Amino acid sequence: MTVSPSQNGQAEKGSRVLIIGATGFIGQFITQASLASGRSTYVLCRPAARCPSKEKAIKAFEDQGATIVYGSITEQECVEKILKEHEINTVISAVGGGNLLDQLVLIRAIKAVGTVKRFLPSEFGHDVDRAEPVEPGLTMYNEKRRVRRLIEECEIPFTYICCNSIASWPYYDNKHPAEVLPPLDRFQIYGDGSVKAYFVAGPDIGKFTMKAADDSRTLNKSVHFRPTCNFLNINELASLWEKKIGRTLPRVTVSEGDLLAAAEENIIPQSVVASFTHDIFIKGCQINFSVDGPNEIEVSELYPDEPFQTLDECFKEFADKIEDKHLVAPDGEKMSATHHLVEVLNIPKLCA
Ligand code: NDP
Repeated sequence: MTVSPSQNGQAEKGSRVLIIGATGFIGQFITQASLASGRSTYVLCRPAARCPSKEKAIKAFEDQGATIVYGSITEQECVEKILKEHEINTVISAVGGGNLLDQLVLIRAIKAVGTVKRFLPSEFGHDVDRAEPVEPGLTMYNEKRRVRRLIEECEIPFTYICCNSIASWPYYDNKHPAEVLPPLDRFQIYGDGSVKAYFVAGPDIGKFTMKAADDSRTLNKSVHFRPTCNFLNINELASLWEKKIGRTLPRVTVSEGDLLAAAEENIIPQSVVASFTHDIFIKGCQINFSVDGPNEIEVSELYPDEPFQTLDECFKEFADKIEDKHLVAPDGEKMSATHHLVEVLNIPKLCA
């Protein structure tokens, strides 16, 4: 099976993608985008770790045309067999923070088979060779760095996706903030709230990842997502949400010391998120460098006509979810978003 590399982010005929971690938070966006792009999409699932919500996701992918294959990337022989049997030419991994080093075996399998034209390891955040968060975030970055070094040593063609923050309220103790509504009681503002960051909607992480996945211009490069329409600091984010819910909320400062103390507690995964929050909103890790090296490229330069979903649209979707709840106040009156909803919404603090 031959596949010619794309030069415009369109799926090439013959593109056969294996996705690892499709049932995970980021992996679902990538799988949906792969299927939408018309690529032959193979989803690797671990048979042992299935639960009703994952079963539902797998069934939905299958209904949309994905082929489900079973196994773990820790089993080299099994992965080699899958890569060969299905003539896979693109492998995308979205394994979670606790399984990053499982990818070392996957890389060896890709190397042994020798037919994979592009590998995208589980990155989907910051440029781990540049950012230097405090512990325990640093340990995760060291693992992602180890994966990068083995890929390069094995001379496997790669693309590293550095998509920055997912579009949502960036709770400092929540691994998957996009699954939780922005606050309805008070804003926690990190430091003076003036450090900017880039926010990207989950479906756009999927869409642009798939565009970059077999684009010849992204070969052996880091692809940075810096949508200018979604470049905001946390004070601006708070004002945007206030407009959507039609009222103002108190703002409470979470200082640099508070974030460092939360990181130092070393509770996984919350402390990892606290260390990244410190790196983004205090140290400015997303903005303290320019994307102009020979091995890096900004995604809007590649696809200038492809729009990003704006934060304004994302926050409107969050506000609509509140309206959809048709919440009823204890006195029987229908509540609007301008009421105090925190008690009735039962917002989960941590979606691990
Ligand atoms: P999740 O924990 O939500 O999902 C991990 C997925 O990987 C699951 O589907 C799991 O399968 C699968 N998996 C784990 N180990 C194996 C294995 N050995 N073999 C096969 N499948 C395996 O991950 P996240 O979505 O949170 O994280 C993915 C990446 O995205 C990470 O690199 C993370 O750092 C990054 N990220 C970025 C964010 C951002 O805002 N930019 C936010 C969150 C994550 P199973 O169902 O069997 O458990």
